Amino acid sequence: MTGNICKIIRNKNNIKDKLKVLVLNKIMISGSRMSSRAMRAVYVRKFGAVDQMKVEENVAVPKLEDKQVLVKLYASGVNPVDTYIRSGQYGKLPTIPYVPGKDGAGLVDAVGSGATRFKVGDRVFCSQTVRYGTLAEFTAMDEDHVFPLADSLDFAQGAAIGIPYFTAYKALLLKGRAKKGDRVLVHGASGSVGLAAVQLAKAYGMTVVGTAGTAEGLELVSSQGADAVYNHRDSSYMDKLKKNPETKFDVILEMLSNVNLGHDLELMKPKGRTIIIGCRGPVTINPRDMMGPETEVIGCALFSSTPEEWNLIGERVAEGISSGWVKPVINKIYDLHKAGEAHHDVIHSTGAKGKLVVRVQE
Ligand code: NAP
Repeated sequence: MTGNICKIIRNKNNIKDKLKVLVLNKIMISGSRMSSRAMRAVYVRKFGAVDQMKVEENVAVPKLEDKQVLVKLYASGVNPVDTYIRSGQYGKLPTIPYVPGKDGAGLVDAVGSGATRFKVGDRVFCSQTVRYGTLAEFTAMDEDHVFPLADSLDFAQGAAIGIPYFTAYKALLLKGRAKKGDRVLVHGASGSVGLAAVQLAKAYGMTVVGTAGTAEGLELVSSQGADAVYNHRDSSYMDKLKKNPETKFDVILEMLSNVNLGHDLELMKPKGRTIIIGCRGPVTINPRDMMGPETEVIGCALFSSTPEEWNLIGERVAEGISSGWVKPVINKIYDLHKAGEAHHDVIHSTGAKGKLVVRVQE
């Protein structure tokens, strides 16, 4: 009997000790959370539909490397590529779990020891080509992917600059070799890249024709300076465009090549260039259309940019912010817990009218 009582007391003491350890562990964990800063972020733990995007609390703020800048994000730009990645339908996929989002804007929160261009409190926009992580309250980015954001632009507009404007610049000027006086067709001008391209081409003295699929989209493209607009959902628009051989194009920026490339080949002037920016499938073309006029079809991918191209584009876009031609148009702003809705809308659009942006801070 006495032996049994002793066993019970010993067990009780063991349990007490185990509880003590558990409590201590909990204090240490919550202590480390408080000291190592936590944030809210959208996580994808499995590639798939938009319901795989969940807001998680108490996520560790990313650790800053030497040449990086920690940005406290206020807005995150949604790009079609974010949805290809989330659904697992993309060549280069992140290791899961991951935080989606490549573009963002906010304030510099900390600067790595080897980063020299920014100080805490600077207004910035940032853009990643091969990494992710802007659907979060903080992101750490290499310094050469962070750029000053003028007071004239708000954070939503800042989050709309990276991929759209950098792609427009690369496509029109580096790949398309467009110059002042050229005639440019922006085939899909009402979306993020298209509107950036219209603004850019007008700022560089080109004549711009843009297409959109709705009356509102057409009005928006005109308001951004396009000299003429056509509705790409109107079955006769291509005939109208092709009718006048005097109005062919030096450069065509193509957002939906799988639908339009065959027509683009007939719309180019001799030596003209069509730049493939967007493509969602295969297409049949007649290469003979390219022989006589010696035209070119050129692929363009922002993520394939060399560091030199990236830095040049960054400088030119920064100049565009100062001179005022960079004026992102925001279509809709979503709360962080509605980021999945933004992913849905960017890919199932009933008519683009600029950029979809997620508000990151509450
Ligand atoms: P977005 O904002 O969703 O805009 C899509 C555009 O495509 C809208 O202007 C839309 O017009 C237009 N469109 C729809 N049907 C069309 C048709 N039949 N012919 C011509 N245009 C049509 O997307 P975004 O951010 O501008 O991106 C555009 C495309 O480029 C996407 O496919 C994206 O994945 C790709 N992209 C590629 C790169 C790269 O590095 N290569 C970089 C960024 C984006 P309506 O809605 O008015 O019909």
